[in-house]
Amino acid sequence: MTVGRLAPTPSGALHLGNALAFGAAWISVRNAGGKLLLRMEDLDRGRAREAVAQGQREDLRWLGLQWDEEVLCQSQRSYSLEGIPTWRCACSRAQRLSGACRCKEHPPEHGNWRFDPPPGEVVFEDRAWGTQRVLPPEGPILQRADGEAAYPLAVVVDDHLDGVTEVVRGADLLEATALQILLHRTLRQPPPSWLHVPLLLGPDGKKLSKSEGSMGIRQLREAGWSPDRVWALLLPLIGCEPPLERARMEPGPHWHRIWRVEEGANGPLLHPFGPIFGLDRKTSLPQPPPTDSIVRF
Ligand code: GLU
Repeated sequence: MTVGRLAPTPSGALHLGNALAFGAAWISVRNAGGKLLLRMEDLDRGRAREAVAQGQREDLRWLGLQWDEEVLCQSQRSYSLEGIPTWRCACSRAQRLSGACRCKEHPPEHGNWRFDPPPGEVVFEDRAWGTQRVLPPEGPILQRADGEAAYPLAVVVDDHLDGVTEVVRGADLLEATALQILLHRTLRQPPPSWLHVPLLLGPDGKKLSKSEGSMGIRQLREAGWSPDRVWALLLPLIGCEPPLERARMEPGPHWHRIWRVEEGANGPLLHPFGPIFGLDRKTSLPQPPPTDSIVRF
């Protein structure tokens, strides 16, 4: 059976970009007659607040993105490094990035646990992006000095434990997939399939953030928007005809876009903003196309 998941981090209120990624995950699972889980990625307790998590669940319900089982919470699980080659490292981020770290040769008594991955590129298939070849980061942190698991470890352990067969999420995590696949392989567990959804950028050209008020689901709701109106705005970005309940998904080349969201008199306006590689591969951003291609509602 197809099993998908919505995996919000409760670090702020949901925005249009979250709705697009979660909507795609919902459609993909519902089209396959599968099961959708909700997992709160609340490991980072400083930022993860229960009130925020509750607000996110309310927004998901309002959007019509119902999940199928009890909500899962990362904060109620424990994560082990057993079976994963790691070394301990006491360096700061700056030292790690500069290559000055010698902790592998001289292991400290305290510090973060870093993954020692096999060398080389990871090749994987994305359902929208096709074949990807990504060099994973060197020595990513899997467990912090205080014992708390870092995101790459938690997500890989959880997706396996929860029986997740497909991951559908924002394209900002396309590159991070390589490391997750390596961890799945190291733990001898089959990785899920991958589908990365176009990103929405704020007017400043940066990824929408959960603190970005005007593009918040709550704000739209308070401004009198209906869920149908939100979906009529978002679904065409991934080639789907609204309404949500009947949307059929065929990931294609139009998914290789990023979109810029601006405030219009009647709510958000979305401009196509070029291929995502401009953003993710850290080269310069492409020029936006002429404004007559704005999606208006
Ligand atoms: N928790 C992540 C987020 O809120 C998503 C992680 C994932 O889908 O793997 O952006």
